[in-house]
Amino acid sequence: MIHHLTCIVCPNGCALTYDDKLDEVKGNKCPRGESFAKEEILAPKRNLTALVKTIYSNQPVVSVRLSNKILKKDIFQAMKIIDEIIIDHPMKLGDIIIKDFLNYQDVNLILTKDVKGE
Ligand code: SF4
Repeated sequence: MIHHLTCIVCPNGCALTYDDKLDEVKGNKCPRGESFAKEEILAPKRNLTALVKTIYSNQPVVSVRLSNKILKKDIFQAMKIIDEIIIDHPMKLGDIIIKDFLNYQDVNLILTKDVKGE
């Protein structure tokens, strides 16, 4: 099967095709397009931003993000875990809430805002 996709790695936006029988990418102006196309078709990954709850009425939720992309198929499970978190003490922007999130060695769930407490 031939898959058609647009490379989003840089502003050139090359129109790519990926032939899954030949494992061949065409249309890419640089090697990054080949990696992008293969990952996007064979094992698509996404980053994730979300809100987690706190115990503080003056800041009932706070924003978080993953430090790296995870497989798209794991996003639903990730959201379930994030939904159960309740922050109960002051924390700083960049603090790690969960290390090695979903057992990914290079992915942490981190705060993108301070939790000041009351
Ligand atoms: S293939 Fe290379 S040049 Fe084309 S959009 Fe992707 S990164 Fe940019």
